[in-house]
Amino acid sequence: MKKTVTVFKGDGIGPEITDCVLEILQAAGAELDYEIYNVGEAEWIKNGALIPEEAYASFDRNHVLLKSPITTPIGHGFRSLNVTLRKKYDLYANIRPAKSNIAVETPFHDVDMVIFRENTEDLYVGVEAQIDENTVHATKIITRKASTRIIRDAFEYAKAHGRKKVTCVHKANILKMSDGLFLSIFNEIAKEYPEIEHNDKIIDNTCMQMVMNPNQFDIIVTPNLYGDLLSDLASGLIGGLGLLPSSNLGTDYAMFEAVHGSAPDIAGQHIANPTAFLWSACMMLEHLDQRECAAKIRKAVDAVLEEGTCLTPDLHGTATTEMYRDAIIQKLN
Ligand code: NAD
Repeated sequence: MKKTVTVFKGDGIGPEITDCVLEILQAAGAELDYEIYNVGEAEWIKNGALIPEEAYASFDRNHVLLKSPITTPIGHGFRSLNVTLRKKYDLYANIRPAKSNIAVETPFHDVDMVIFRENTEDLYVGVEAQIDENTVHATKIITRKASTRIIRDAFEYAKAHGRKKVTCVHKANILKMSDGLFLSIFNEIAKEYPEIEHNDKIIDNTCMQMVMNPNQFDIIVTPNLYGDLLSDLASGLIGGLGLLPSSNLGTDYAMFEAVHGSAPDIAGQHIANPTAFLWSACMMLEHLDQRECAAKIRKAVDAVLEEGTCLTPDLHGTATTEMYRDAIIQKLN
């Protein structure tokens, strides 16, 4: 039986890459029906709501969301929709696999790491207070409950996928209580997985090490803010944001999205790379146990990337999003 999933089209390049990915899913024979909604800044300007009630209701019903990027207006009065969704549906585990592709030339080879970013707390709780005219405080929250579940998920993933090492990234030398708690929970849980190597690194050192020797990293588990920064860094190692997918998993709900944003600088130009969003859709298919379909799409993408004749400009090609889509569909057939 077909599974119904909710789709948010988003802002900027969101609608273009959504159309493209839905066509590829259709061509690959994904057993899916879709409930599609416009959400984000454009929707707010038009209808006064960033996410319409019926879009929330659809996700409430279907429990699975394929979400393209949304522009977050900067300034007062707007809470990031992404943060809102992660909190509302308790999507606590943000999983971001960064893997080199032989077709994409970068100075870094054989990068293959998965970042587990805690998704619901840390500085992203958005609790800021104006203390006086010249002083603002932001609150960083780390709890045992949230830290335990993301760290355990990272070790369980390592066990299930034959991964060798889990690295905890933190700043416990300065943030002794908050990151100190995260690190101490990591060390407790690591004892339960003696077959998996574990170590920890301070965030600033990690940034340098990721550039000097990215191959030492296998699984990284880290609080929210460091996970956000490290995953953009990781995308740079493998050829850019157009190649980094993600899943956001909770106990009852799952959301799949590219790591990149709405890329307003290239919106409407038909040059966006849809790969990260397409691989996010593959993660969704795997989550829904449609593994064969996901594998088929991954194989077609690899073939197009490897041929290298039909690539979008971020990968130094001249193809439009639609030409790249058609090349993938041709490989599927
Ligand atoms: P961005 O990720 O949108 O863009 C950064 C750079 O990468 C830009 O030069 C862009 O053209 C390029 N890029 C990104 N995705 C690409 C793709 N698929 N193909 C080719 N090039 C691509 O980051 P930004 O400019 O800092 O943010 C723009 C907006 O997106 C902001 O409002 C931000 O809040 C929002 N944002 C949303 C999400 C999300 O919805 N998950 C994530 C990050 C940022």
